[in-house]
Amino acid sequence: MAEAEEMEIPENQSADGVEIRDTDIVFDCPRCGKSLVIDYRGAGLEITCSQCGASVLVPIPDGMQLSDLDLDPGEILKQLFATRRNYQKAELRVQALKASLAQLQEALGAMSEAVAKGLTEE
Ligand SMILES: [Zn+2]
Repeated sequence: MAEAEEMEIPENQSADGVEIRDTDIVFDCPRCGKSLVIDYRGAGLEITCSQCGASVLVPIPDGMQLSDLDLDPGEILKQLFATRRNYQKAELRVQALKASLAQLQEALGAMSEAVAKGLTEE
């Protein structure tokens, strides 16, 4: 991975109030628990923890594969944002389904009540 070493990886620290961009990967150092922020291009690479000096493997974000890193950055960003959008849509869909389920349960409850009432009034 000679290429990786030449790649410039800006390393920020969220704890210091450094701005975290949408494309940054945020994760905790497995040794000292320090919150590390790294550019998405650092995914799958080893970095040195700024606090304890441990070698830390940068996790690959959900929805991103290591092979994606061979694509040009624009393509990766598109995929990343598409994944996030899909996730948000799925969340909204779950909420909508929960709402309809609650309505159905309410209607079912009202129906059972009406049936029970009808039976006892006979
Ligand atoms: Zn550390």
